[in-house]
Amino acid sequence: MGVLIGPFVRVLFFRVLWFACLAVLGAPLQAQRVEIEHEGRVYVDIATAGGRLGMSAYWLRGYRTFRLRSQWTTIDVGKGERILYLNRMPIYLGFPTHEAGNRLYLARADYQHVLQAILTPQVFSGKPNFRRIVLDPGHGGKDPGAQNAAYGLNEKDLALDVALRLRRLLEESGFEVIMTRESDVYIPLERRPRIANRARGDLFVSIHFNAVASAQPEGLETYAFTPRFQASSKFAKPNWKDNRSYPGNANDPWNALLGYHLQRAMVQQTGGVDRGLKRARWSVLRPLECPGVLVELGFVSHPGTAQKLRTAVYRQTLAQSLYDGIIQYGNRLQRIP
Ligand SMILES: [Zn+2]
Repeated sequence: MGVLIGPFVRVLFFRVLWFACLAVLGAPLQAQRVEIEHEGRVYVDIATAGGRLGMSAYWLRGYRTFRLRSQWTTIDVGKGERILYLNRMPIYLGFPTHEAGNRLYLARADYQHVLQAILTPQVFSGKPNFRRIVLDPGHGGKDPGAQNAAYGLNEKDLALDVALRLRRLLEESGFEVIMTRESDVYIPLERRPRIANRARGDLFVSIHFNAVASAQPEGLETYAFTPRFQASSKFAKPNWKDNRSYPGNANDPWNALLGYHLQRAMVQQTGGVDRGLKRARWSVLRPLECPGVLVELGFVSHPGTAQKLRTAVYRQTLAQSLYDGIIQYGNRLQRIP
């Protein structure tokens, strides 16, 4: 939780500054509701939040979607919705947005865990190192993971193949790479983050593929660990269990930043369907002491995807996309003083 003290102090500072400005201008305080309380939670006016990030703010035609915009970034978010679109990437929020008095409000938790983490990570303390990378190919041995028998695909083989290709790319660039497995062996879930922690890894990527009963779903998605007090993306509302903090939460901002860059590179390189940056408390991320995410690199149950996954060229593209995302995350860290 240490890393969150910075932003809280900063938010407090901005509030004080804001009220001081209003007092100087003689504007009535009631007219500018920068922060409101809704369902027991603090929400911030998204236009004001955008202003702090140097973005202009306006409703799109029809007053259903609010847009924040700067030279490089467009953020669209709908009324009462729990997804925002950052340069078209769906990013799952902790809480739905809330409209009041023709203004749209975003939970302050989402302002911190999504907008600040991705757009202004320099506000957080504890910038991570970026040298030793831990790759975690999902499943293995007796656990095949997702399967598509018709195409002869096992998730465990695909994950290992992509991880080994990624390791080669990273090592060629001078990174130290640690693998939770480098052959077809079974590794219990709880041992995987322990390997990363013991090796003092700087970054952890767990590599997976999806499968569902239907042939339709397709695309790529990335999971960052769910922040404290909020529900994971597949649940509608938080419950008492979500009040717990885990070691993985110490890296909340960096998890989101890493997830954003990986997801963006995955979609750009493959041209695949962007299923977005989601939140879950996967057990491989829970005890993790460094930034980490879990990527789902496609549905083996989707015939078109399965066809591509059979080719080494496409698996190399997937490895290259993860490599690019890791480098872009590292470049972003480097720009933090
Ligand atoms: Zn899996």
